[in-house]
Amino acid sequence: MGIYKLKCLSCNRILEDDYTNKCNSCNALLRTKYEKKQLTLRNDLPGIWKYIDWLPVNSYFETDTSIKTYKSNGLAKELGLSNLYISCAGYFPEIGVKNKACSFKELESVPTYQRMKEKNKKGIILASAGNTGISFAYMSKITKIPAIIIIPESAKLLVPYPKIDTVLLIAVQGNDYFNAIHLASRIKKEGFVSEGGARNIARRDGMALVMVDAAFTLKTLPDHYFQAIGSGTGAVSVWEATLRLLNDGRFGKTKTKLHISQNHPFNPIHNAWSRKAKEIDVDKDMSNASANIKKVKATMLTNRMPPYSIIGGVYDALRDTNGETYAVTNKEIDSAIKLFYELEGIDIPAEPAVAIGSLLQAIEQKKVKPSDKILLNLTAAGFERLKKDHGLYSLKPTYIAKNEHIPIEDLPLDDL
Ligand SMILES: *Cc1c(COP(=O)(O)O)cnc(C)c1O
Ligand SMILES: [Zn+2]
Repeated sequence: MGIYKLKCLSCNRILEDDYTNKCNSCNALLRTKYEKKQLTLRNDLPGIWKYIDWLPVNSYFETDTSIKTYKSNGLAKELGLSNLYISCAGYFPEIGVKNKACSFKELESVPTYQRMKEKNKKGIILASAGNTGISFAYMSKITKIPAIIIIPESAKLLVPYPKIDTVLLIAVQGNDYFNAIHLASRIKKEGFVSEGGARNIARRDGMALVMVDAAFTLKTLPDHYFQAIGSGTGAVSVWEATLRLLNDGRFGKTKTKLHISQNHPFNPIHNAWSRKAKEIDVDKDMSNASANIKKVKATMLTNRMPPYSIIGGVYDALRDTNGETYAVTNKEIDSAIKLFYELEGIDIPAEPAVAIGSLLQAIEQKKVKPSDKILLNLTAAGFERLKKDHGLYSLKPTYIAKNEHIPIEDLPLDDL
């Protein structure tokens, strides 16, 4: 099982995990140090638990959640690539994944709930405008651990159940995700934890399984990794997995290069990295944020406060892997969605289309060679397919808040 300690990436202190997200004296990320340098596959365990050695938990629950890496034929041929691998944690029955939250956020929700259970936490509080909310609502249904989820009223959480009794969904009027975050930060409930974003090691190590699964499939680390990012937490997680896999010793010596992408015109991380800047400058990198956010199709990529400059965060991951960033237009997204459906046979939303657009740019700019081993993370797939096969329902808010300042006593928190 995942016997582990936590290491502060600033002062190097080793900490015990008491649902710890931060060292007392530093602001840096903590990283999990697993006792097992080499991971032993546990094919006797369900779904992603086969990688339990490198998850911050001591036990597991019954789950179908899985991750698959497969070698592309259609898209690979079209792009002239001989070693293109696709990672999918969505709903794509033909390759053997049927994750009903349809995105790689499902990988983080599984160990997060298990770690909560082991640390005697009663429930979780989070703000989300999309896939994180869907994954945590879905996993709340599976684990019966309650979740308080705050969304902007304009958002929809599409889940595979008409109703989930363990979820208290609160909508804040309007369409600003910021207000939902603000309200979520004010809510306190005995025994409940806030989801913790990039600081939550269970979230990161869950998403890291994208690279772990790829390494076990390819029998080596890939040369390149392509992903669309908002916060960049997924990319940081995959980088951490790369370091663990190098240390494991069985997967070669290539430190996988990160290629991360955002949707033009909201691409603050691309702007900051293009200037080689260690901090995002609100004026230079994120001007007209509200207006630009309204223009992008890939709405999951519009994080205004990504963990970019924090020690162990996105900047460090890019620097350590000699990484590249890209800005992809809505037009490139449209053609990538169409191309992918025609060549690989599954529907994808705008976010993975951004990653595909960036792969096209990288080929054009000769940042990858035709024979390189390339891993493309399809961060979400198959919503349309799942709707057809099974049905998807928009989760109904239990309560609609006029604004983010409403008295907390007004919220039906005791209903859970
Ligand atoms: C969350 C999300 C991303 C971005 O992930 P990061 O946390 O920024 O790494 C990309 N695509 C989809 C579909 C997502 O849900
Ligand atoms: Zn510290």
